[in-house]
This record gives sequence, structure tokens and C-alpha cells, in this order.
Amino acid sequence: MPRRATKIVATLGPASSDPVLLEQMIRAGVNVVRLNFSHGTAQDHIERARLVREAAKRAGREVAIMADLQGPKIRVGKFAEGKVFLQPGQSFVLDAARTELGDIDAVGLDYKALPREVKAGDVLLLNDGLIVIIVDRVKGEAIYTTVKMGGELSNNKGINKQGGGLTAPALTAKDMEDIRTAMSFHADYVAVSFPKNATDMEMARQLCNVAADDGHRPGLIAKIERAEAIPHLEEILLASDGIMVARGDLAVEVGNAVVPALQKRMIKLAREHDRVVITATQMMESMITNPVPTRAEVSDVANAVLDGTDAVMLSAETAAGKYPLETVIEMAKICHAAEGGEEFKLEADFTGKTFTRIDQTIAMGALFTAHHLGAKAIVAMTDSGSTALWMSRHLIQVPIYALTSKIATQRKMTLYRNVRPLLIDTSADRDTALAESEADLKARGIVQKGDVYAITCGEPMGSPGGTNMLKICRVG
Ligand code: PGA
Ligand code: MN
Repeated sequence: MPRRATKIVATLGPASSDPVLLEQMIRAGVNVVRLNFSHGTAQDHIERARLVREAAKRAGREVAIMADLQGPKIRVGKFAEGKVFLQPGQSFVLDAARTELGDIDAVGLDYKALPREVKAGDVLLLNDGLIVIIVDRVKGEAIYTTVKMGGELSNNKGINKQGGGLTAPALTAKDMEDIRTAMSFHADYVAVSFPKNATDMEMARQLCNVAADDGHRPGLIAKIERAEAIPHLEEILLASDGIMVARGDLAVEVGNAVVPALQKRMIKLAREHDRVVITATQMMESMITNPVPTRAEVSDVANAVLDGTDAVMLSAETAAGKYPLETVIEMAKICHAAEGGEEFKLEADFTGKTFTRIDQTIAMGALFTAHHLGAKAIVAMTDSGSTALWMSRHLIQVPIYALTSKIATQRKMTLYRNVRPLLIDTSADRDTALAESEADLKARGIVQKGDVYAITCGEPMGSPGGTNMLKICRVG
């Protein structure tokens, strides 16, 4: 398998829960497995996490687990017949006070605050925007609407308000419970759904810290999927370890057409702030039922790669699709091919930038030197993973190998673009550690006699934030 810099996040579901298949998917290139907390019980998630860790072990690859919290899904209630078919022009009532099951005229609401958050003229989108209804008036707990675009509406479908403005808090009581579950199996990343601002992310981080009484610290991913999050992008980024361009809900709130430009902006901004970024939703959608992707999907994945995303994500394709393994194989191929078309602009990246931290300056020095020398590899000996993260924020043709003795750091780094994390236990003595690292890289076939590589490390060895040394080596 050719080396690929862009990472693949795959959602686990009924279609991918077979241990053998999951192992094959990991071998085919899955770097991060996403557990969707919208489905299943705490026990299910614990079981799934075990399944992932075991499959990764058998495959001999390290993968990260991302716990994706459900968040405040704003939904309609249930229907007597399971679903109705709304016709354009008909009236339809969303009634927070309704206790009986829904019918063609009205349905109850899971989100009881909705009548207080909409007014006449507002546009509501149901079922991921497939159905559009316009608010005529609000009376008490009932929202009277006219259907503009009809279609099938079934139990518990989501509601979005065009332009945003619903106040539901990002973390529900269920999310808080789910955070505890995720910390019990050391989820490497926690994705927060529908955050509006930095406070939502800070709150999630605190909850994780409290829940993990053994000091486990997951990376926090803010799913950007609410119109309100866009003006707060920068503060959200600073409060998070990464973001997800959550195109599904985002497109419903802000309109499809502006999402591609937003995607580019988000990816650029995340990289500039030393944060990771995942591009998600409908990337290979047609492969839920077909064995090959459409041309448009191939372009979509390739363009996300060229935009500089760390990872591309699969949702229903791997959770519930007919071809989960084939989808991963295709996606890996597209990423690899797109990377061949990358432009490297390292000098431009550095223009106007000042680096003041010693460790960061060493990391940038390694990049610059390796790029100019055409080195075979950049090797970062890292405790927290920050050197590898800084290096990976710049597109460069030289692969980065991050050596760490901490399994949690190794797993976290599986999401970083162009970083291959390796677990290695080196001696405390610097010169011995450098020799051991080289022997390890040689044994893995990463470097060969005569190759030049750049290596960074810190003295004393094994202290986080202590990187203060760059060495250019020729393999002996
Ligand atoms: P979801 O998030 O799949 O949990 O809804 C991703 C998105 O909205 O794109
Ligand atoms: Mn979403």
C-alpha cells in the first residue's frame, strides 16, 4: 500500500461491526474509528471500543477512537403510522403540547422550546432539509406552518432553522453521561455536536477532565454545524484541539451553496491555529449502495485533500452501507492520488510568521531543512505530540515519523496529516536513544543506509515541551 498522508475516519455501525471486516478496514487504511453516540447504550459503546482495539491489535496498526456525542438533536415526535407524506401547500402543525402520536395534520415535538424560538416567516427544514415548511404563526405551544417542499416525514426526524438561532445547549444530560462512558475506555477524541461558542467546548473539556480521574486527556473536536458557530470560529478553534467540517447539518442551516467556500476557510484557519480538521459527510455517499463512487465524489474527496484537511470521514458509508471495505479502499486511493497534485509552499507559509518557542522553532527548522535537503524522513521524538502537530500544519513532501513512548500520544497523532506515529521505548541517554531510533526506522524499512533524515528531540529526554535539538543524520 503506498504511503498516504491524509487520514481516514470511519464510522462504526452494523455494517462494520464484524471483527474480521473491521480488521480488514483498518488494514485498508482506517486511522480513526468514530463511535456514534446517537445510537446504542453505554454497554454497546464499551463493547464497540473493545472491538476496535482488538481489531487494531490484530491488524498491527494503531487507530484512535473518536466518541461523537449526540448533542441537542432537535426533532419532531413520532407518528401513529411511523410516517406521513407532506404535500406542498398543505398546513402542518408542530405542537410541543401534543401527547398523542402524529398524523398528516400535526406532530409533537421532542424539543419543547421550539415554539418560543420561531416566529412568522421563519423557514424550518425537516429531515436534513428535504422538507421545507414556513412558519405562519405561533400560538401557545403550537407552530402553524405551510409546507413549501413536501416529502416523507418519519419518526424523530431532525429540525433545523434556516440561518440558525435555536438556543438548545450543546451538551445535554445524555452527553454528560456519554462523556463518562467514553472516558471509561479512554476515547482518544471526543467530538462535540452543535457547539455555538468557545464556552461549549470549555465545558466539554471540563466534563472530560472530571470524568477521567486517571488523568486521560482526550482531544476535543468541535463539530461546526450550526450557523451561529461561523462568526465564533476562531474562539471555538482556540478552545478545541480540532474541528469537523460537519457539512450535513451545516448545509441545512446555512444553505448548500456556501459550504464549499466555508470548508476551505475552516481548513485554512484550523491549520493556521495549529489545530486538526476533519472533512465530513456524504463524501462517498453513493457507495452506501454502489460498489464504485461517482466522479463528483472522487472530486469532493480529492478537493478536501488539496484544501489541506487532515482527515476525510465516512459516515453511513461504513456504518450502514453495503460496501464498507470497498469504500475505504477507494477513499485511500483517491487521497493518495490527490496528494500527488499538492503544491508545496513552505516558504510562503513562513512569510510574516515569527516563532518564539524553542520547541516550535526547532520543529520548523526540521521542516525547512528536510524540505531543502530533500531528506528521506523527518523524525520527531515526542512526548505530548506537539512537535509532530506543528510540523504537520505545513504541507511538505517529506514524511514525518513521530516516535513516542506513550500509547495515548501515539493514538492521538493518528489523526495528524502526514504523520506516522510509532511507539518506541528508547533509553534515557540521548546518544543511545538516537541510535535506537535509527535502528528501529531501519528495521521498519523507513530509512536505508545512506539516506539523510532530520531528527528532533529534547534534553533531558522524555520531558514534554522540551524539544531543543535538531540533528541531520546520514544512515550508517
Ligand atoms: P452527524 O454530524 O453525522 O453527527 O450529523 C456530521 C454532519 O452534520 O455533517
Ligand atoms: Mn451533524
